[in-house]
Amino acid sequence: MVQQVESIWFDGKLVPWNEAQVHVLTHTLHYGCGVFEGIRAYKLADGGSAVFRLKEHVHRHFNSAKILEMQIPFTEDEICDAILETLQANKMDEGYIRPLSFIGAGAMGVFPGDNPIQTIIATWPWGAYLGEEALDKGIRVKTSSFTRHHVNVMMTKAKTSGNYVNSVLAKREALADGYDEALMLDTEGYVSEATGENIFIVRGDIIKTTPLTSVLDGLTRNSIITVAKDLGYEIVEQRFTRDELYSADEAFFCGTAAEVTPIREVDRRQIGAGTGGRITKHLQTEYFKVVKGENPNYAHWLDRYTV
Ligand SMILES: *Cc1c(COP(=O)(O)O)cnc(C)c1O
Repeated sequence: MVQQVESIWFDGKLVPWNEAQVHVLTHTLHYGCGVFEGIRAYKLADGGSAVFRLKEHVHRHFNSAKILEMQIPFTEDEICDAILETLQANKMDEGYIRPLSFIGAGAMGVFPGDNPIQTIIATWPWGAYLGEEALDKGIRVKTSSFTRHHVNVMMTKAKTSGNYVNSVLAKREALADGYDEALMLDTEGYVSEATGENIFIVRGDIIKTTPLTSVLDGLTRNSIITVAKDLGYEIVEQRFTRDELYSADEAFFCGTAAEVTPIREVDRRQIGAGTGGRITKHLQTEYFKVVKGENPNYAHWLDRYTV
């Protein structure tokens, strides 16, 4: 169960958690045309708090809406301010932030007509998405029987609610089969991403990740690429197959929720030594330093606020 806090921002004002409700004929509830974000706020090493890459997340949110031709009646700055206001109202010095824009009630049928575009911002306390042990020891992954979206079936650059039906199917299957997460292949059979995380593999000193074709342009992916390059690692953005993953020295998933989670097994094959590898651990450590404000080179990624 999500841990309840005081307020949710709803179309411009804070309302009590239990009063943040919509009508059952809300268009998005029927047809899945909504866009959302997942953002984290971290307690910093110096005692302050900051939202990690707030402006980039909000910018992606507006791009997701643009792709779906939804006009959000607020500016990006207004949504950034609203996010900080919501964290403050809920006295949260860290936690998860979920903006969602959706098509409200009005016309039914596929064409949404002039139905209002509504936006909420919810925040709640959330620890490690796949568990603390996952961050430390890594997870077991199964190649899904469900294929990731074709780029002309769903718009894969938009963080669309409806896209997640595919993720829910894959996640249920993976958990029912005793795994922690699903690995999804693209329509041509190459490795794509997980249900809500991008993937990296390591061979020797070379780090590889899937190019931005069928996958979401993850901000954690982007942060890892930037930090890894600054550390002197070579990064290759290139398609790879599942057998290249099976024989990689190391592999990990990354995302705002999952942070940097090592993969220790794929389809019963142990990856590397079966624990997070050396480079994965290095990048994970550096990532946590960055989000906690311990690396001044990336201070511009932190939007500080006080509770
Ligand atoms: C949100 C998401 C990610 C991770 O993106 P971040 O910006 O790093 O949180 C990866 N894949 C999919 C499909 C996603 O929806």
